[in-house]
Amino acid sequence: MRQPRERLALLRGQVREWAADVLPYAAELESDPGTVRRMLDLPLLSGVATLQIPPEYAPAPLVVGRERFDLRTALERVVFFEEGARADAGLLLSVPGPDMAGSLVDALGDRAQKDWFYGRLLERPTWTCFAMTESERGSDATSMATSLTPSAEGGSLLLRGGKRFVGNAVRAGIAVVFARMSPGPLGIRAVLVDTAAPGFAAEPIPTMGLRAIQLGAVTLDAVQVPEEHLLGRHLPAIRQGMWGWLRTFHVWRTVLAAMGVGIAAAAHAYARRERRTPSPRVREQLDAMDQRIRSARQLTHRAARTVDADPSDGTLACAAKLAASRLADRTTREALALLGPGARLDHPALDKMARDAQGLEFMEGTSNMQRLSVFNGVMRGGGQSHADAAEPAQRPAGT
Ligand SMILES: Cc1cc2nc3c(=O)[nH]c(=O)nc-3n(C[C@H](O)[C@H](O)[C@H](O)COP(=O)(O)OP(=O)(O)OC[C@H]3O[C@@H](n4cnc5c(N)ncnc54)[C@H](O)[C@@H]3O)c2cc1C
Repeated sequence: MRQPRERLALLRGQVREWAADVLPYAAELESDPGTVRRMLDLPLLSGVATLQIPPEYAPAPLVVGRERFDLRTALERVVFFEEGARADAGLLLSVPGPDMAGSLVDALGDRAQKDWFYGRLLERPTWTCFAMTESERGSDATSMATSLTPSAEGGSLLLRGGKRFVGNAVRAGIAVVFARMSPGPLGIRAVLVDTAAPGFAAEPIPTMGLRAIQLGAVTLDAVQVPEEHLLGRHLPAIRQGMWGWLRTFHVWRTVLAAMGVGIAAAAHAYARRERRTPSPRVREQLDAMDQRIRSARQLTHRAARTVDADPSDGTLACAAKLAASRLADRTTREALALLGPGARLDHPALDKMARDAQGLEFMEGTSNMQRLSVFNGVMRGGGQSHADAAEPAQRPAGT
């Protein structure tokens, strides 16, 4: 039987191979996010799309060297997403499939809701979106104003309000939408919405980075949602709302951290390739970048193992997301600086990495919000229980 480290190396190697196939498409996808539809058969994309589907619904796991992977653990996800992000971070988040919405359905959905959600995803390539942010209420999500009220005739709920900066909103067939049913943080609930329902509309928002995600602004004009689509309705009140989305964030913050590491590693490799005969000072700078990337990777893996062991402990996940999004920003800037004043124009691939890195800063909470969460978590004793399960000493291939 293989050691966990060897297993993950197999996954890493496979994703790295797949990622090489998508590199030629990155520029095209950036200028026209719609082209992702023509890429869905590429193994990296079909991997993201299907591997996150739970085994009870999924057609087949990924088998590499007789090892089975289904991306159900945060640790497998971070390995997958780091490698994928080395090719194109935006692309990984632009693929049909469960993504964050799926993690929430896993945490809060009852059997019928899961059957509906995963059934739709398996019928045909279906994008999902996770609609939480509102204008003027980004970081302070608990003050959201979108409302969810019982309809006059009964049997359904009505969604009214709007969301902003929602990834894949324009192409999503299913949206998980957060809305307020009653005052206070516990009054926020999530519903599964068929985006074909009357009253649901999404408009693209142009962005500089992660353009493939095609951020959207969503309008919810009395959208009728069946009562059976209210997530968490079978759970005790304390577990119906925030409990589920915090767990989802904990997993996905480790994933975003991994993507930050992936972008940084790609920028570092790019600069190393281009500066073929570096001066001692430049070599030192490149080595320091490499060292920072390794540290952030270790923290990310440790965070993922912590979340896998205790899904309610997100302290290290926040720390990893904070560290890795800053790392991606810093490394891409340093790499550009190493290539001279015209680097943004002369090296569009690196310029894209720098713009994508900036997008990471905002996703699932800005750095300031992660700092607040880390502080609160440490005060509660979070991030300690599994932090000792340190990454075994290793040198991941190609870094
Ligand atoms: C690429 C991308 C993808 C995204 N995908 C999604 C998605 O799929 N679904 C979704 O719902 N949202 C998504 N978002 C939105 C994202 O979650 C928000 O941008 C983020 O929560 C920040 O909110 P905001 O933009 O309104 O900034 P604000 O909350 O207005 O923050 C502005 C600045 O103020 C700081 N700040 C705010 N409050 C505090 C405080 N209490 N203490 C200290 N500093 C503070 C912030 O750190 C930030 O620097 C995405 C954003 C991007 C860029």
